[in-house]
Amino acid sequence: MKNTELQQRKEAAMARGQGNMAPVYVERALNAELWDVEGKRHIDFGAGIAVVNTGHNHPKVKAAVQQQVEHFTHTCVMVSPYESAVALAEKLNAAAPGETPKKSIFVTTGAEAVENCVKIARSYTGRPGVIAFNAGFHGRTNMTMGLTGKVAPYKVGFGPFPNDIYHVAFPNDYLGISEEQALNELKMRFSCDIEASQVAAIIIEPIQGEGGFYKASASFLQSLRTICDEHGILLILDEIQTGFARTGTLFCHEQAGIEADLMTAAKGIAGGFPIAAVVGKAEIMDAPHPGGLGGTYGGSPVGCAAGLAVFDVIEEEQLCRRAEQVGQRFVQHLKKLQTEYPEIIGDLRQTGAMIAIELVKRGDVKQPNTELTKALSAKAAEHGLVLLSCGIRGNVIRFLPALTIEMSIIDEGMDIFTRCFKSL
Ligand code: PLP
Repeated sequence: MKNTELQQRKEAAMARGQGNMAPVYVERALNAELWDVEGKRHIDFGAGIAVVNTGHNHPKVKAAVQQQVEHFTHTCVMVSPYESAVALAEKLNAAAPGETPKKSIFVTTGAEAVENCVKIARSYTGRPGVIAFNAGFHGRTNMTMGLTGKVAPYKVGFGPFPNDIYHVAFPNDYLGISEEQALNELKMRFSCDIEASQVAAIIIEPIQGEGGFYKASASFLQSLRTICDEHGILLILDEIQTGFARTGTLFCHEQAGIEADLMTAAKGIAGGFPIAAVVGKAEIMDAPHPGGLGGTYGGSPVGCAAGLAVFDVIEEEQLCRRAEQVGQRFVQHLKKLQTEYPEIIGDLRQTGAMIAIELVKRGDVKQPNTELTKALSAKAAEHGLVLLSCGIRGNVIRFLPALTIEMSIIDEGMDIFTRCFKSL
């Protein structure tokens, strides 16, 4: 009853644009479990959209935050800085793939990190253009909506968006766009409507998150690196959803053996505390003048304390390795289901603990089954399982559990999932 009452109050008090999935109001959370205001337990397969990679309320992260709160909660890093911000920047600089010396700045959200990448890239190159990918997602601010390729629901009715943004094809074997086609299209655009010498940056997610968990192959990322180098364009890797051990390495583009010029980090950075970062080659990061970057809350001391603890937990609990083990456990369950229902489960994709299945109309992998996807998420919520969906066609169920989730909780959650699936 309390959940229903709260949902009514929410609908009266909060604008519908910031909607919520199921009316399940959380009272407390621990690792991969939530308890709602009615005392019901839920298994969380979403980790706050890939944020609590170290699990809800990890004791080490909690202790670091409590200790920081005892000292101070805010001074503004641009006014009276503190050591934890410097230490977290040092950690990020060392962790970012590649050998070139790095520098970082802190902001508050993922979208802000992307916005700042564009500012830095424009400042360094003196060029206006940015190339992004179809079906990509980079945030909900004006610039990041402009960069976002996935139209609904993010962009509908919110234009106009900034100029000098171009969208190109993201290779997607499943949807029939080969890597070669995508590269040819990009090259063709350079001799058509995109003036390469006016492009500051290409931005790409190593795995499209909101777009449906489609992965850019190592060879595609390597080709982009070459194209960028040929034209003096900066390569920005948006690691907001894929970072912090989620894909089996600290950052996903490590797996392609490439070095980004600029990289975004957010979500998993601090166990749920709103802090985000841009990490990049030092010379590029230093292009903007002092005072040109930042924000009142960027690099909050509480977020920095949490971020340092998250780095420790990832190392101590070997979460990169664990991400792969967690992913494999999901795959075991999902493969069984796919074998039983090959005509509805069109594809199964997994990189570390980013796992997705594509639900399609019976017997036709080209036809997305959006209705089934919605019904399954709703049914799962009723049965105590938090489940996320995604995809340009709205038919992908994605699993983004805490990397610390117990194997027995995965099994229990997958039992609920399987029962809900079979009942529809
Ligand atoms: N970029 C990617 C790849 C994301 O997945 C997200 C959020 O889902 C963002 C940017 C935007 O981050 P935020 O919601 O923190 O602004």
